[in-house]
Amino acid sequence: MSTETSTKHRLELPAAVNTRRIVWPYAIAIGSYHAIALLAFLPWLFSWTGVGLAFAGTYLFGCLGINLCYHRILTHRGMVCPKWLEYSFATLGVCCLQDTPARWIAVHRRHHEHSDKRDDPHSPLAGFWWGHVGWMLLDNRDLYRLGIFDRYAKDILRDPFYRRLEKPILYAGIILISWYVFFLGGFLTGLAAGHSLGESAQFGASVLIWGVFVRTVLVWHITWSVNSLSHLWGYRNYETADDSRNNWLVAVLTSGEGWHNNHHADPRSASHGHGGWEIDLIYVFVRGLEKLGLAKDVRRPGAGLKKG
Ligand SMILES: [Zn+2]
Ligand SMILES: [Zn+2]
Repeated sequence: MSTETSTKHRLELPAAVNTRRIVWPYAIAIGSYHAIALLAFLPWLFSWTGVGLAFAGTYLFGCLGINLCYHRILTHRGMVCPKWLEYSFATLGVCCLQDTPARWIAVHRRHHEHSDKRDDPHSPLAGFWWGHVGWMLLDNRDLYRLGIFDRYAKDILRDPFYRRLEKPILYAGIILISWYVFFLGGFLTGLAAGHSLGESAQFGASVLIWGVFVRTVLVWHITWSVNSLSHLWGYRNYETADDSRNNWLVAVLTSGEGWHNNHHADPRSASHGHGGWEIDLIYVFVRGLEKLGLAKDVRRPGAGLKKG
């Protein structure tokens, strides 16, 4: 087991990146969500219910939608669950505004294929902020849907549900409906509690800002930390060809995804913790699903992995 931080030379950005071309849809979405999330600190928009929803939502949407479904079920096929449940988890993932399942999966599979090499879409060896968020903001021809889907997401797009989610109207519609559900939930709860129309609207706005915008920003930074922090700092159990690390802080924030060196050594395993104190709450949840008959073909950590 080694604990040193990478001392390699700074990696060049992928050759297909055009540093003069900004991906405006991403830049606008990321910028405006951060700006709106900051409104949460206005006293008028503060509520403890909102705070609770933001943190509970981080687990519900981030852990089940992105970490379990987008990552472990769809990208790596670490387990199989009934389609109704898989689609429900995937819908939670869509609400995290990290692009469609097919695009997310294609980018992530490319990351595994070229980890910490020049063609890796988001190696932090090219700079911490590049690996964290910058890679989404600059045009990268390698990540255009047409090419990347053909190479990395054919299996996903064979499923009509995921093909339909590629329609911008449907993808954006799900996100807009989630805004509406949060606002209306807060508004109606306020009315039911006997508050005035104005007070109820204020409570609905608080639930919307905290439950959607603050939560989305939190989930973004948590997901992005797997790409940035877990390729820079932490210990290595396995001598993988990349710089992946097991980072306990990221593991706590993501409920298990921070055991990232284990994951790169054994990508298909549904468990990212490989024993000892490497607690993986998502895998605990997977075992629960398995006991209920809602998960099968669960991939265990592979035998014979080479320890570093
Ligand atoms: Zn990685
Ligand atoms: Zn992965």
